[in-house]
Amino acid sequence: MHKLKVSIVGAGVSGLSLAHTLIKNGITPIVFERASAVGTVNESLMKPHFLLQSSQIALQKLGILDRIQPISQKVNSLTHYSRNKHLGDSTIKPFIDDGKEYYTSTIESQRLVQTLVDTLPKDIIQYNRLVTGVQQVTKPTVSFNDGSSLESDVIIACDGPESTLRVQLFNTPPLERSHIRIFALAAPRTDPLHTVTQIIGDGLNIGVTPYGNDHTLAWVMYLSEGPHQEYTTDTAKQEIKSMISGIHNKAFNKLVDSATVVVGYPIMNQQMLNEKWYQGNVAFLGSSARQSPVNAGLGLDQNILDAYVLGSLLAKKSPLEAFQEYQNKRLPRAIEIERVGKYMEGFELSTSFLKRIAVENMMKIMHSTGVVQKQSDKMWKQDSEHIHSV
Ligand SMILES: Cc1cc2nc3c(=O)[nH]c(=O)nc-3n(C[C@H](O)[C@H](O)[C@H](O)COP(=O)(O)OP(=O)(O)OC[C@H]3O[C@@H](n4cnc5c(N)ncnc54)[C@H](O)[C@@H]3O)c2cc1C
Repeated sequence: MHKLKVSIVGAGVSGLSLAHTLIKNGITPIVFERASAVGTVNESLMKPHFLLQSSQIALQKLGILDRIQPISQKVNSLTHYSRNKHLGDSTIKPFIDDGKEYYTSTIESQRLVQTLVDTLPKDIIQYNRLVTGVQQVTKPTVSFNDGSSLESDVIIACDGPESTLRVQLFNTPPLERSHIRIFALAAPRTDPLHTVTQIIGDGLNIGVTPYGNDHTLAWVMYLSEGPHQEYTTDTAKQEIKSMISGIHNKAFNKLVDSATVVVGYPIMNQQMLNEKWYQGNVAFLGSSARQSPVNAGLGLDQNILDAYVLGSLLAKKSPLEAFQEYQNKRLPRAIEIERVGKYMEGFELSTSFLKRIAVENMMKIMHSTGVVQKQSDKMWKQDSEHIHSV
């Protein structure tokens, strides 16, 4: 039987999760990575990444959840403040699938990426291989910056937010720098912490969360039209302190003082969702197909799930049928996350008094009605149906 030849461009969470799924289904892909090692390029890897219930079901199916749970941290409650006003708390319940309980967790995505690499067979990833484009004349072919090229049956573009293949095949303009500045601060954790705290209002969105199994991490986000600046840990701390005067949240203030690493960077703000997730024999996965609005915080999670669905389908159907079903199943979820994320961002980062009152009330209602749990349960149920159906 003809074994499908799959080239994966990019060894981020998406490319690596796809490689795992294909291997589990008897297909050995080749992964081309421009960097000399994994996890060196994407600054966003500093941010706390949520590993939600449904992506853990996919990792369980791939047989690697046991390796990932020890480097992640369970989160069992969510609390909101507006500056110094407490708006409400919610307990986050586990999701039960096939009799097993799955908890919301946070993970340091660099460690996740490393574990995904460590659990793959050797020689699957080729490092220092910069893909410059694809051709689809007879068979889809990837070209490299050294002038070489390689034919396959399908190419999966997992080359991140600045995807070369997306620019080439969809003729999208390269990304522009945007208007949101974000700082991520990390400190070794000294006490147990299983709560995500969010402080919103007056143009700031601050979060404090457990990070992996041994750090506490905070993010500070605000609107800023200025050019990108380089920050050292000290200058970043000064900038954060000037933004947060008047906030007296114990956990957060302690973290600003004790942070050992602080990274500051801008976030792109433009429509990032591709309308189509494939073109000919090339499919798009992860940030090359859609950059989740950061406030939704679901990028990594959706990548793992989408990779699981796409990889499983490729093993069972013709590439075009697999691509079509992958797009039909998973694109609507991305559209919904993008819609909710943009909507929330408009409120959370606004400096308008009316919007602040609106967001405070929204948060209070959210906690008192348990709407987050209900919506999450609905999404995890649908995700788990997708996982079990492919
Ligand atoms: C500022 C920011 C904050 C974020 N915060 C969160 C969050 O809180 N929670 C969350 O879940 N998600 C978050 N995300 C999203 C999350 O980081 C991404 O969803 C995830 O990293 C995307 O994984 P990926 O594998 O698709 O792409 P990437 O992680 O970008 O990996 C792409 C890989 O492709 C390689 N590559 C690129 N071009 C080429 C080429 N031409 N040839 C060969 N290799 C190439 C790169 O070197 C890289 O290794 C955030 C994103 C950003 C930008």
